[in-house]
Amino acid sequence: MTDSDLVRRALACAPTDLFIGGAWRPAMNGATFPVTDPATGARIADVADADASDAVAALDAACDAQRGWAATSGRERSEVLRRAFDLVISHTEELSALITLEMGKPLADARSEVVYGAEFLRWFSEEAVRVGGRTAPAPEGTLRILTASRPVGPCLAITPWNFPLAMATRKIGPALAAGCTVVLKPASLTPLTAAALVDLLHQAQAPAGVVNLVTSSHAGHVCGPLLADRRLRKLTFTGSTPVGRSLLAQASHNVLRCSMELGGCAPFLVFDDADIDQAVRCAVTAKTRSNGEACNAANTFYVQRGVVEEFTDALTQAFARLTLGPGLDPGVDLGPLVSSSQRQEVASMVDQAVAQGAVRRTGGVVPESDGYFYPATVLADVPPDAAIATSEIFGPVAPVVSFDTEEEAVRLADRTDYGLAAYLHTADLSRVARIAERLEVGMLSVNTGPISNAAAPFGGMKHSGLGREGGSEGIGEYLECQYIGLPR
Ligand code: NAP
Repeated sequence: MTDSDLVRRALACAPTDLFIGGAWRPAMNGATFPVTDPATGARIADVADADASDAVAALDAACDAQRGWAATSGRERSEVLRRAFDLVISHTEELSALITLEMGKPLADARSEVVYGAEFLRWFSEEAVRVGGRTAPAPEGTLRILTASRPVGPCLAITPWNFPLAMATRKIGPALAAGCTVVLKPASLTPLTAAALVDLLHQAQAPAGVVNLVTSSHAGHVCGPLLADRRLRKLTFTGSTPVGRSLLAQASHNVLRCSMELGGCAPFLVFDDADIDQAVRCAVTAKTRSNGEACNAANTFYVQRGVVEEFTDALTQAFARLTLGPGLDPGVDLGPLVSSSQRQEVASMVDQAVAQGAVRRTGGVVPESDGYFYPATVLADVPPDAAIATSEIFGPVAPVVSFDTEEEAVRLADRTDYGLAAYLHTADLSRVARIAERLEVGMLSVNTGPISNAAAPFGGMKHSGLGREGGSEGIGEYLECQYIGLPR
């Protein structure tokens, strides 16, 4: 049974207005749009539907605050972020429930997201006081070379619905630490979690204008004018590759600094010498965490022929044990997908794979329900050239493709335009080194599951993006390097 008191407390934490210049207010034209619960299709809130004039007002506020915020000490910025970390952690239950209500992932996954997301605030509170430069003599001895780091300036942060808290803290944390101000435009499916986070940053005493929130049901109309505005200095985006591509084109006009965290299609490689029990345990997490709606989710399982039956059987049994249901209910392992269209896409991919010769081992059938549920699905004997093997699935579906040689495995794993993450299970360390050198991916997980961590650089190669979030690399995305030359 859903805990209705928790739902009430969660919704009470999420303002439904825009946050501009340190104050909550409705959209100028009074418009709102509904937010729905994917477990039931029911409306849970109506939030302010910003238009271009609201977005420009948010950028005005960010620009007004920029100079003052950049002039604060690293320690002051650090302490705002540290207070925000404490507040997020102390609201773990409410934020988790909001995430589950808006996008469907089970409460346990939502709690993990809150902890993961909060860590970016703590990590970057620690990085804020370590921004520096370097000094060196010019080789000819004629100059003193000094470098200084300066905040890039006002940033537009656009975030997706699948990690509505963590994708925002992964951007706001380093931006604020570096001394940048932010206009946040969250996904229209998940504005409530973003609003709750912004309210906590306000409570953490982020000065007026440093973080602004613009919720909207027409993203292009609110982001377009900001990207065209010469005062904006940076675009930081997480979302799909097609939208990212179009935003990059728009950002080129004002030569914006861009950080792009885009789509993924992570191969999960299992070799004959792998520990199969461990590989299956990791496969379940890497595939079904957050309902499989994660950019770094294992997408396609490439399994060496000697262990493919054993692996597929064990994965099928593990998937068949997972409980599908409303994410707020106790004991649920898989919640609904975020929307009816998302479920339709996943179901069509599965049907098409079956038509191409794949065999459903478990799942693969849409259940009767008002919610957008899709069961954990294992597809065996998937032809290597089936579309599902090279498309971002974004659902709890595991296509298994067999291979014979390491050469073939690398070729199959590396053939897409994506290059975000890969998973590798083998007992052979020299194989790990060989494959790491050959796969064009930003992140390689070896004999384990997902490896995201605030202290590590997250990001992709090829069409999976530009730049890194987290780690000591993350803050550099929000800093300009200035070189000062002095005579010796
Ligand atoms: P999406 O459709 O690309 O949307 C992402 C964000 O962009 C949303 O806020 C969306 O607003 C906004 N947007 C859409 N069209 C826009 C436009 N013309 N101008 C400005 N903003 C626009 O992606 P999604 O479906 O929310 O998220 C899933 C995708 O994100 C997957 O491909 C996943 O791999 C990727 N992702 C990548 C990472 C990573 O770190 N690499 C992490 C998480 C997710 P609306 O909601 O209003 O459409």
